[in-house]
Amino acid sequence: MLKWIYDLSYEELEKDIAHLYLPRFVADQVCRWLYEKNINDIACWSNISKKNRETLSQTYDIRLNKVLEVQADREGNRKYLIELKDKYKIEAVLIKEKKHFTMCISTQVGCALKCKFCATGRMGFKRNLSSGEILSQALLLKKDAAENSAPGQKEKINIVFMGMGEPLLNYENLSRALQLITSEKGIGISPRNITVSTAGILDGIKRLEKDFPRLKLSFSLNAPAAALREELMPISKKEKLDDILAYFRHTPRKHRVTFEYVLIKGVNDSLQDAEKTAALLRGIPCKINLIPYNPGGSGVNLESKVLLAAKRLNAPPREWGFETPAEPEVEAFCEYLHSRGYTVIIRWSKGREIKSACGQLATEI
Ligand code: SAH
Repeated sequence: MLKWIYDLSYEELEKDIAHLYLPRFVADQVCRWLYEKNINDIACWSNISKKNRETLSQTYDIRLNKVLEVQADREGNRKYLIELKDKYKIEAVLIKEKKHFTMCISTQVGCALKCKFCATGRMGFKRNLSSGEILSQALLLKKDAAENSAPGQKEKINIVFMGMGEPLLNYENLSRALQLITSEKGIGISPRNITVSTAGILDGIKRLEKDFPRLKLSFSLNAPAAALREELMPISKKEKLDDILAYFRHTPRKHRVTFEYVLIKGVNDSLQDAEKTAALLRGIPCKINLIPYNPGGSGVNLESKVLLAAKRLNAPPREWGFETPAEPEVEAFCEYLHSRGYTVIIRWSKGREIKSACGQLATEI
């Protein structure tokens, strides 16, 4: 069986190349074709001899995962439905910003955390993505971004790990993928242009900050009171908010932590919630992103799928009653935090039209 090349770290590839009795520099050449030029047809690798190319094609499968469907909206955001080898499907999103692209990448098929407001949570957890499956999303989207940019123009790329899944519950594969995404031998995206978003897995946060100190971290706060947070995000019964905040407060870091806050009408969007949030985050160098709730679900045949999923999970009715707050409420929440000295950005999510905004990623599995 051929080895899927994207699952190999640079060091593993180097070792393989030595075992195949190929010159050492071939590892660099292969990486350049795969990650810098993003050309995955061995026949085109012109600086590698025909004989060596033959050896490579007898050893490696270099096909990226298959894109089943691309949905684009009028603003130039694109959502990709990607099929994995075992036929599971994941989604990734390319967001068009003014001067750059942001890739939103998945780390798991489904998610185990069951946050009440999130469509991925309703799918349940299927499996972790391999490092190659994470990396492969970045390569697919990079290729597509290049094809959709003006000729000769090199678009800057940011990555956010805010797709399906909890990145820090797949730490090994996330960090292997990050090595190749950030390294000069790989895609070469600077860690300061990469954000990992977590619902709050404290051990994972500590490891990530130790292994990748220049990376940016987002923490999904979503409620300032522990009881409400535990209801919305069951993981926080185990991973205590106080412990996480104490860690943020006492550990120096390169970038400010971003606190994500999904605003849900009548649930966590009152001025008292804003006051509590302001008090809670006092003393932590941070930014706050307010994300007005995006109605859940995604993909084809949304209604029936959500209902089926609901039955499967025996979901309490409250899950389905969430609504997006009106603009003045969102503004007032923002204004209050602002008045307390916080940097706050409202993220009226991009990609709602194609159901690719935060919390809307879910696939038929
Ligand atoms: N598991 C990780 C990453 C995936 S979720 C995490 O929890 O951070 C990415 C972001 O989308 C999180 O900040 C989450 O709170 C937010 N989100 C989830 N569902 C949402 C929804 N329905 N509307 C708006 N934002 C949502």
